[in-house]
Amino acid sequence: MAREAVELLVQAARAWYFEGNQHGLRDREWMALRFLGRANRFSRTPSALAGFIGATRATASQIVKTLEGKSFLVRKPSHEDKRSVVLHLTAQGEKCLNQHDPINHVLNAVTALGTDECVRLRDSLREILNHLDAAHQRLDASVCRDCMFLAERGPSTGKGGRATAEFMCRLYRAPVSLEETELLCTSFERTRDRPKLEEHLDRARVASQG
Ligand code: SF4
Repeated sequence: MAREAVELLVQAARAWYFEGNQHGLRDREWMALRFLGRANRFSRTPSALAGFIGATRATASQIVKTLEGKSFLVRKPSHEDKRSVVLHLTAQGEKCLNQHDPINHVLNAVTALGTDECVRLRDSLREILNHLDAAHQRLDASVCRDCMFLAERGPSTGKGGRATAEFMCRLYRAPVSLEETELLCTSFERTRDRPKLEEHLDRARVASQG
């Protein structure tokens, strides 16, 4: 049964590992574009990108040049460190991802499973990755809300006087907004036991939507 499940996973992976190109991009270029569309401001750097896609700095910088050449990306100086650059997806890059990302078919199929099944699948895959993480030192990236460095900073008032939850990254010593807690970070460190903050995030998420 386990072998059959893994074989199915491997077959699903054919959607994102392929020969040649699709809509003008190779599989690693798609992977880079997808990552940069989901990564937080600390992780949208050439070196974090190289780590995430498992490439050398030289390969990652060639991929960045290709994506820049297609107007899918721009470089901007980092607010935190003026010597560094942060990679930003352009509106054209976002449109390309929405319309042509080769994993969109898988995404639609997973969405069609329904919310409960989708949550079960996500949790099972996370559990599997956690085991692999233990074997291979660490995860490549994960969402900020589950990170041990995330701390509550106290409520503040956002646009229109609406209360927004604010958080602090204790690693970068920088504020993290509620929206940013849903983004990927390559400096992520997993914590297993943090029910209080999880509850707070859920409440804050509901408040921000209302
Ligand atoms: S709290 Fe963790 S995941 Fe979030 S920005 Fe800091 S290091 Fe990255």
